[in-house]
Amino acid sequence: MSEEPTGGRTRQLPVFHCPYCGDEELTPYGESADGWRCGACLRAFTVRLLATGVQE
Ligand SMILES: [Zn+2]
Repeated sequence: MSEEPTGGRTRQLPVFHCPYCGDEELTPYGESADGWRCGACLRAFTVRLLATGVQE
């Protein structure tokens, strides 16, 4: 129940791994906010939120 200050990380990183190779080295790609590129396999892809995660 503690509110953590938003310190430490200077930029947001995705909370997922590369869907193709599983690597975590993802960097922002393109002008779109949902574009990412994997540093391991160099694949670029977009991530779209389909749901808020609130489920039963
Ligand atoms: Zn990859």
